[in-house]
Order: sequence, then C-alpha cells, then structure tokens
Amino acid sequence: MKNIAILGSTGSIGRSTLDVVDLLSNRFNVIGLAAGRNSELLARQIKQFKPEIVSLEKESDADFLKAQDFSDSVRILCGQEGTEEIARNKDIDIIVAAITGISGLRSTITAVKYGKKVALANKESMVVAGPLIQKLAEESGSQIIPVDSEHSGVFQCLAKEDKKNVKRVILTASGGPFFQSTKEEMKNSTIEDALNHPRWEMGEKVTIDSATMMNKGLELIEARWLFDLQPEQLDVLIHPQSIVHALVEMRDGSVIAQLSQTDMKIPIQYALTYPEREEAPLPPLDLSKIRALEFYEVDKEKFPMILLAREALNEGDSAPVALNAANEVAVKAFLEKKIVFSDIFFVINTIMRDHKKNHVDNLDDILSVDRETKLQTRNFLEQRL
Ligand code: MG
Repeated sequence: MKNIAILGSTGSIGRSTLDVVDLLSNRFNVIGLAAGRNSELLARQIKQFKPEIVSLEKESDADFLKAQDFSDSVRILCGQEGTEEIARNKDIDIIVAAITGISGLRSTITAVKYGKKVALANKESMVVAGPLIQKLAEESGSQIIPVDSEHSGVFQCLAKEDKKNVKRVILTASGGPFFQSTKEEMKNSTIEDALNHPRWEMGEKVTIDSATMMNKGLELIEARWLFDLQPEQLDVLIHPQSIVHALVEMRDGSVIAQLSQTDMKIPIQYALTYPEREEAPLPPLDLSKIRALEFYEVDKEKFPMILLAREALNEGDSAPVALNAANEVAVKAFLEKKIVFSDIFFVINTIMRDHKKNHVDNLDDILSVDRETKLQTRNFLEQRL
C-alpha cells in the first residue's frame, strides 16, 4: 500500500488521478490533497477519499471547509505553507505534482528535496528549474516520473534502453484546434475557438498553450531536463490522431514508439504504478478502427511560438523562465479578452527580444526572473491597450 498526495486535486489532472486511485484503492491510499479555490469540490473529495491533511489557497476557503462536518478528522491548512507541508509529510510516498503554472514549482521542489517519488504533471517546474531539480533529485534519491502523455511515452520507450544509444527524441503534437486553419483565420480567433481542442480535455491554460503550440515548446524544454538530452536531440511532429505520443530514434536506425488511447488516465496510472503495470478500465486500442496514423512537420509560419521556445531551449539559463512568465501573462490577458490570439506571440516575442539572459541556479533567482518578467509583460500590455 502506497500513501499518496495530490497537489492540484480539483484540476483536470487531479480529478483524473483520483479516478485512477479510486479503482486501485487496494494499492493506493490518499493521505493529502491540495487545491486552489474550488473548496466545494475539495469538500466532496475529502468525503470520498478521507485524506488526513488538505490545503487550499485562501484562508477564507479553508474556513469554509472547517465549517463542514467531515466524519473523520482532517487537518485543514492553507496557502503555500499548507501545500508544502503536504509535499514533505513523512507518511507520504508519492506526490502527484499537478498544480498548473509556476505556482506549482515550490511544492515540486519540496517533494523532490524530501526524496519523494514525484509523479510530475506540472510542466513549468522542469521548464524553469530543470537543472536545479535534476541536482536535488540526485542528492535526495527522489524519482521523477512524468505524467504528461508525451513524456510518459518517452519514459516508457527509454525504460529498457541505454541512453548512449539514443539519437533523437520526437514529441508528437495534435496540432490543436488550428491545425487546419490559415494564419489569417487564426489571427482573430476567439477564446471559444482556441479552447475547442480536438483531442484532449484539459485545463484552460494548457488548452490555449496547445492552440499556440507553446505547450509543445515547453514540453521540449521539459524533455531536455527530464531525460538529460541535448537541445538538438529533440524534435516535434504533428500527429493529429494523438495515438503515438513519443518516438525515440536509436542510433542503429530503430525507432521505438509509445501508443495508447488519448486518455490522461493511462500516463497517470503508469506514473503511480511504475515500474509495475495494472489493468486500466479502458477499451483496448484498436488500430484497425483508427487505420491511419499521420505525421506532419510543424508549420513554423503558423506556429512561430515553437521557434521562440526553441530559442529559449538553446539559450538556457533564465531564458526559459522568462518565456514561461511572459506566456503566463499573455495567455491570461487573452483569456480575459484583453488581447487577440495573434497578440500572444507578439507580446512574448517582444519580451524575449528584450530579455537579458542571466544565470539562475537557485529558487530565489528563478522566482525573481519570473516576477520581473511578469511585471515587464504586464507593463507592456498596459502601454499597448
Ligand atoms: Mg502533453
């Protein structure tokens, strides 16, 4: 029996994780849950999974929970402190890091420092702090298993391989809602268009990131640190069916691929049970029904964000931190209808042209680049609006 905690339990990944755990209740026991503002859903999760310790972002939401009548005793905490207390709790074996954005960084680092097995769904952690997390994991013996479908795919392809034989790693991208659109059509796309993802059901931020393809850019940077690869070993292919999640090209010419249904429960379950596997309550993958698996190069004119991400990947140091920060602010502005779709790239590109790269090797440095870049991006947006 393994004790697990889910940081970000009310989000898309968090809810799918609880679905997985519910069916594997003979193997996993939920000890901790941390959520943002959705106190009502967290209350229902507490009733169902009976964790010992929970945390919410705001004190007022924690007070709402304290006023509820839970049959078993549960400690209710709040804020960053609360999340981190869960991340380092000595009774917990596995931390599912599923808080979106850079706000998930501190608790991911805490879990790694405390030697937990980390099922990593928060991609920003590796994007902004890859080298630091790598170093901390080496020191503490923490094992990081990716949850993101593409990285889970790479992880599975590499599981039995010697890394020196790996030539190239290719992440696939569905192409998002605009794969068939022209650049002109994309320019003034609405939030509804951008949120209408053809393959995956995800949170709003990552869905917009998929529409711009920044998501794939961030995933390239994440892969560099998760698998200790060089930037030139990483590539992207558009694969509209989203069945092949990753391809690993070996130096003898073999290409190993990981295929599965488009359902996040598969990589989530793998991360939890690794190195073992369990039955999943899904119909088997029937390739005779899917018939065609297509692959296309990324149209960089249409998706220039991928070039920006690659630049940051090559530059390293503070560049990915700035990229991620500018993107968070720009996507928020788009979701608040303050800018149009094509502005997202324009804003981030302007900020990145201005960015003076500097060395970041601890959490404070990273957070300060993040803060400064966000401020700069907000100022730029204000001047323009
Ligand atoms: Mg992904």
